Amino acid sequence: MRFALFGPPGAGKGTQTALLQQMFDLQSIATGNMIRSAIHEDTPFGRQLNAYIQDGGLVPDEIVQELAESHLSQGGFNQFILDGFPRTVVQAKWLHSLLESKKAPLQVVISMVVPDEVILERLSQRRIHKHTLESYHLTLHPPPADLDPELIVHRCDDRAEAIQIRLDTYARMTQPVSDYYRDMGLLIEISGVGTSLEIRDRIIEVLENQAVMNTA
Ligand code: AMP
Repeated sequence: MRFALFGPPGAGKGTQTALLQQMFDLQSIATGNMIRSAIHEDTPFGRQLNAYIQDGGLVPDEIVQELAESHLSQGGFNQFILDGFPRTVVQAKWLHSLLESKKAPLQVVISMVVPDEVILERLSQRRIHKHTLESYHLTLHPPPADLDPELIVHRCDDRAEAIQIRLDTYARMTQPVSDYYRDMGLLIEISGVGTSLEIRDRIIEVLENQAVMNTA
């Protein structure tokens, strides 16, 4: 199975990736998590990445592509789910050539459609675990009461000032990626509103309908 989850920040890509990865034993290629892990290591490279993301902008294509390729090659370019990658048309074209060269093209791109007001509410309520990167929602999926509150953080790019910039960046840089995949006949839209299990089931239905399940 080789597919991508596509959608704006707060669409629920990370939550669904975690659910599907476990169910189908997939490798997840989540460039945002890779970037946050590098930032956490506090190396010069991590500090450079932090400067890009903290205000809501994108990390340059070449850096993200290198991160994605090294993770994809670890998993042998098969059985993967893409979360938050590609985020520009340049990245999408680069990925297309890479996967063609490995004879492992993407099978479907599932676009999770969520209204802006739901996104704004979700992002302002989102908190993540500093180490596991697990995502919580303060009211709908609160962190366990026995967890050290110091471990639960508000992502710097989930603060109000950065959210608007991320949504603008999405509209300008990332939205065109959906047209690229639509033109290739790979894009399927689903509603990203509902419980995480309802949304998971919609995704599974698409994977079944597109005959993506159980393919090597
Ligand atoms: P995410 O966790 O997917 O929302 O990503 C967090 C941040 O990492 C984004 O706001 C971007 O600054 C950066 N990022 C993640 N994936 C990419 C990508 N594919 N291209 C460029 N920047 C990215």
